[in-house]
Amino acid sequence: MAITDKALAGKVALVTGASQGIGRAIAIALGRRGAKVVINFLPDANGSTREQDARKVAAEVEAAGGQGAVSGFDVANSASVTEAIKAIGAEHKQLDILVNNAGIAINGLIMRFTDDQWMKTLAVNLNGAFFTTRAAATLLLKAKESGRIINISSVVGESGNGGQVAYAASKAGILGLTMTTAKELASRGVTCNAIAPGFIDTAMTAEHLPDAAKAKLLEGIPLGRIGKDDDIADAVAFLAGPEAAYITGQVLRVNGGMLM
Ligand code: NAP
Repeated sequence: MAITDKALAGKVALVTGASQGIGRAIAIALGRRGAKVVINFLPDANGSTREQDARKVAAEVEAAGGQGAVSGFDVANSASVTEAIKAIGAEHKQLDILVNNAGIAINGLIMRFTDDQWMKTLAVNLNGAFFTTRAAATLLLKAKESGRIINISSVVGESGNGGQVAYAASKAGILGLTMTTAKELASRGVTCNAIAPGFIDTAMTAEHLPDAAKAKLLEGIPLGRIGKDDDIADAVAFLAGPEAAYITGQVLRVNGGMLM
């Protein structure tokens, strides 16, 4: 059941990697609560459709009752992140909510995993969240008690997973980043929490898991179903709101009971 009050009216949110999947659902859920949402997408020099996708999400945010804007930058590129967040501050004059959602999964067993695969995964999933948090911190501190950072980790960051060494390590790293950020920003009332999704039906999972593996996975989910992007988005909408002001440094597991 989505939260539909307008408690985020007047707030500005940035959601990274929001042109599709869980990020898109998060942007719409924040829009539903009245926020202005800046939808980040990964620009592609070869003329990507991602900007169009992001603009479609912005329209969906508006249809849900919020305001939408887009910002293209690669979260793994420190200079681009800094420049983009400076531009967001100049244009929207504030930033209250940051959702570090952008992520990639490169899978493979440790013994065959290449330096490149390791570096790329860490660069997007962990460096990206750090670069964005660092660049946004000044604006978020100005938001004081409305300031929120929500980092998207994963169940495998707590449990590990064969074939996902870099992905699991990056998602475990997110938890350390979350707790440290929470401690450093708490004196101004800004909170930082992580959400650890279980198995959610998106392009990321569709690409990497054959049907037989999905069926096996279902056996390990007590609630008996694969998660939806909205399951994660609703949790973000809660953590972003005033009712979560006293929650910081926590990991909220949204996983159907897959890990308890
Ligand atoms: P997705 O559909 O693949 O979405 C990931 C998004 O991140 C895409 O929009 C992607 O853009 C963007 N992105 C990738 N690299 C980027 C970069 N360098 N800069 C900016 N944006 C970038 O996957 P999803 O399932 O929605 O995943 C969203 C988050 O949830 C990820 O952090 C993922 O690890 C986490 N998560 C997912 C699951 C699951 O079961 N699906 C479970 C646990 C955690 P492009 O498409 O243009 O590359």
